[in-house]
Amino acid sequence: MTEPFSLSPEAAGPHLHVARRSLERLKTVPELAQRYAGRGELLDLDDLAALAPLVKDDLNTALAHLEPKAEHGATWLFQSGGSTGAPKLGYAPTGFYMAGVHAQWQPLDRADVFVNAWGAGRMWGAHFLVAALADLAQCQVIALGSVSEGEYAEWLAFFAARGVTAIGGTPSVLRLWFAHARAAGLSLPALRKVLWLGEAWQPRIEQDMAVVAPQARRWGMFGSTETWVVGTNTPDCPDDTFHPLPEQLVHVGPDELLDFTTLDPEMLNPVLRYRTGDAGRLVACPCGRPGRAMRVLGRRDGVVQVRGLGLHVDDLVARVEQEPGVSRAQVLITRQQGRVSGVDVLLLTAGGAAVDVERLRGELLSATFTLSTAFLHDPESFRLRAVDALISNDRTGKTSNSVVREEP
Ligand SMILES: [Zn+2]
Repeated sequence: MTEPFSLSPEAAGPHLHVARRSLERLKTVPELAQRYAGRGELLDLDDLAALAPLVKDDLNTALAHLEPKAEHGATWLFQSGGSTGAPKLGYAPTGFYMAGVHAQWQPLDRADVFVNAWGAGRMWGAHFLVAALADLAQCQVIALGSVSEGEYAEWLAFFAARGVTAIGGTPSVLRLWFAHARAAGLSLPALRKVLWLGEAWQPRIEQDMAVVAPQARRWGMFGSTETWVVGTNTPDCPDDTFHPLPEQLVHVGPDELLDFTTLDPEMLNPVLRYRTGDAGRLVACPCGRPGRAMRVLGRRDGVVQVRGLGLHVDDLVARVEQEPGVSRAQVLITRQQGRVSGVDVLLLTAGGAAVDVERLRGELLSATFTLSTAFLHDPESFRLRAVDALISNDRTGKTSNSVVREEP
């Protein structure tokens, strides 16, 4: 029986040679060869569903060995996966596979004036990926990147003067733009399109959009630096539901864990049953577009989104619990109106042992890429403190590695 895939066997079949090639490449990676040993031909979707999934750092291990190079143009390196130590790498050719995205999804057109507010630099992919989409749409582009707290009002006035019709960023960044505009009483009457990628949508943004730019609608992409863009949605789709691209094969495995297999022959990353840690379902989208859409239910792997970056909470807790004197640790994530305002590591010490909290905090901040990047402008929002008790769920009595607290 064919397990649930986003494509029918008939639609996927002619493109499975790409998956076969990924399998052959993965078999050459010494650390991964064992798991694929004895695997014969990959002839159909049942064979694919029987392969072991790639998890967490497997793809980085494979890329370190394979070092793929683009057929045409440059090979770009982006930060990808893993949350401790140096950035792990994902690869992509110039163009970032956006021709396939543009074939399915055209939020921008030649008449648009588009602000690209995804951060540029630091090996982040989204800014360049969306620039490639704008190139295909032939619109006007304002390559803004990230701005600091004092700069919003000035830039918003510039947007209004330029008749900006579209803006894009992670939901955390978009929330700040619309909140600042609303607080300052500024409006962007020409704005029609809000593109987003990198985190779940935040409904709070829509409340501010309704005041600041009543004509604006959200247009979402779902993906990761390993898979690149997997699917897209429109204002007519629920914000958690995406239509997969035909060159992205989505599979729902045990515990509703999603895995992704590329059917794009240009793809440099050998994405073969790669699990991002997201859970989901294949559904019919209420927008009425035919085919199987992917509804994303959130993470199942101890990864929490912090300002658009994935924080591996279990890794962080394990690191802190290695510290002499620490008996248990817990990560407390505080969110204000949908945005992460701070991360606290709570420490339970053994028999009142003294722990050098400041030293440990400094070490964690410099060793954890997600934290140092997310809190670049406000490092004081990452804190470490000894407590008398960790936070438990009163109903279940469980103490999990992470707790999210919402503040008004
Ligand atoms: Zn839809």
